[in-house]
Amino acid sequence: KQKNSHQVEFLQAAEEIFISLVPVFEQHPEYIEHNILSRIVEPDRIISFRVTWQDDQNQVHVNRGYRVQFNNVVGPYKGGLRFHPTVNESIMKFLAFEQIFKNSLTGQPIGGGKGGSDFNPKGKSDSEIMRFCQAFMTELYRHIGPDVDVPAGDIGVGGREIGYLWGQYKRIRGAYEAGVLTGKQPGYGGSLARKEATGYGLVYFVEQMLLDANETFEDKIVAVSGSGNVAIYAIEKAQQFGAKVVTCSDSSGYIYDPTGIDLEVLKEIKEVKGDRISTYVNYRPNAVYTEGCTGVWSIPCDIALPCATQNEINGDSARTLISNGVKVVAEGANMPSDLEAINEFLNNGILFGPAKAANAGGVAVSALEMAQNSSRISWTFDEVDGKLRNIMKSIYSESKEAAEKYGYAGNLVVGANIAGFVKVANGLLTEGVY
Ligand code: NDP
Repeated sequence: KQKNSHQVEFLQAAEEIFISLVPVFEQHPEYIEHNILSRIVEPDRIISFRVTWQDDQNQVHVNRGYRVQFNNVVGPYKGGLRFHPTVNESIMKFLAFEQIFKNSLTGQPIGGGKGGSDFNPKGKSDSEIMRFCQAFMTELYRHIGPDVDVPAGDIGVGGREIGYLWGQYKRIRGAYEAGVLTGKQPGYGGSLARKEATGYGLVYFVEQMLLDANETFEDKIVAVSGSGNVAIYAIEKAQQFGAKVVTCSDSSGYIYDPTGIDLEVLKEIKEVKGDRISTYVNYRPNAVYTEGCTGVWSIPCDIALPCATQNEINGDSARTLISNGVKVVAEGANMPSDLEAINEFLNNGILFGPAKAANAGGVAVSALEMAQNSSRISWTFDEVDGKLRNIMKSIYSESKEAAEKYGYAGNLVVGANIAGFVKVANGLLTEGVY
């Protein structure tokens, strides 16, 4: 704590995991003997670098780039790149740390990493985005590789950015190392169903939670936050399963559409026009737009799917959701609920699906993309989607069983942390002290 006292998000993530690992340490003294906790909490390395780029007016800008290579016991470092002005070392470390256990939970051979930059993509032209991505990769390339570290997208990094990053990597390396990045365009090294994977995976995870409670998505009212990649495809799959999704949001405000979000309109606004969510009401006059994104949690729902960003649900929002009758909360974003909110959910009998388990579908399909790249084969959409659904099912059952085994039946936070951790800890033991 002393070493990282200024890294609020990282400490929050570490605290959440460590608290839930207490029962594991009680049963496994070898982890204490080999100082596993201290070894796991210190990243293998943190790379930080200057990114210099020119805007359309020929002004020169400098941003900071990061790559945190946290742990590669289970496989090459793997985790997304985030371009957002809030990016700093603490946020990179929290995301990379969580990624270790999430990736371990997927059962795929991938370690934990994360990266990004404090670059703000909002309002930038396409050529500015391209120049930034090229400048970013001009430094990053020396630290990554298909067997070393495999970045992907995250907030502010979608298919377009991955395309520019991939092109630059290829030019510098002079080789078609497709497995170096995931989230590439299908037909150009990318996997079908990767774009949909995190949102679909989240809904497949909730499907399992509901199944255990003898419930389904049919006719449930669902509140979703965000309107990016994760949110859009969570909405799509929830609607396919018969739910009525009534909200979405961006960092400025939220939409409440009591008759159900019109997905075609949402895609048109976000994926085609790149507009703000406030414009939704121009297409759907019965919908209401309200400024302020956290207000989305005041809308009554059966199932809440936070899919925007970290700490978007605090204790107050959690209490509002509970008093409005929410039954299930599952995290599409990374760490969207703060510790107080998680405790509110757990203490009030709400079924709670933590990010590490519930949003692991994206990285799981990224690992499937790596497998396809290595074998030079492309699977069909249905093949990938089928594998994704099975992976989410097994993440759910492993998390549930780990919670039961260590005396926390029904607590998927503890279960997911333990199931993810034990595999990494045992791997560390086999590698000896280093
Ligand atoms: P996108 O960039 O596609 O979308 C992010 C969405 O969140 C946008 O609607 C954005 O609104 C909103 N948002 C961003 N910052 C804030 C904020 N401070 N307050 C409220 N809303 C905000 O990102 P993704 O959909 O890819 O990622 C969303 C979350 O899911 C992140 O936590 C990410 O780490 C996590 N995740 C993503 C995966 C993936 O495969 N993409 C995999 C696993 C987790 P605005 O346009 O106004 O910024």
